[in-house]
Amino acid sequence: MSDCLFCKIVAGDIPADKVFEDEHVLIFRDINPKADVHLLAIPKRHIDSLNELSPEHDSVMAHMLRLLPVIAKQQGLDTGFRTIINTGKGGGQIIFHLHIHLMGGASLPGFE
Ligand code: AMP
Ligand code: ZN
Repeated sequence: MSDCLFCKIVAGDIPADKVFEDEHVLIFRDINPKADVHLLAIPKRHIDSLNELSPEHDSVMAHMLRLLPVIAKQQGLDTGFRTIINTGKGGGQIIFHLHIHLMGGASLPGFE
């Protein structure tokens, strides 16, 4: 998707503060952090949102989920972390490239 911000980050056309990258997944710092640690995990291949998931995405989604606790611990979040996926306009999604917010630290937004 040529006009997608996160695809541009994957392509290296827009800089990002990357904390993890492999063939299928990129994890980088949110530009406007809402917690001490606020990362975004994305599949490198464009998917609009959870609404567009199909069985072909199962392996990348599982891979991404299993990375989260590993990266959280690397970021010093020893006691836990929060994940958020906004889906669609009504879910507060602003960037339509599927992403998982990984947040942690002293103060966390969202559900207590
Ligand atoms: P959402 O509302 O779930 O679509 O969240 C989009 C997130 O992307 C927000 O938390 C933004 O702060 C973040 N964001 C927007 N542009 C960038 C960027 N260039 N690099 C890193 N994070 C970004
Ligand atoms: Zn994209």
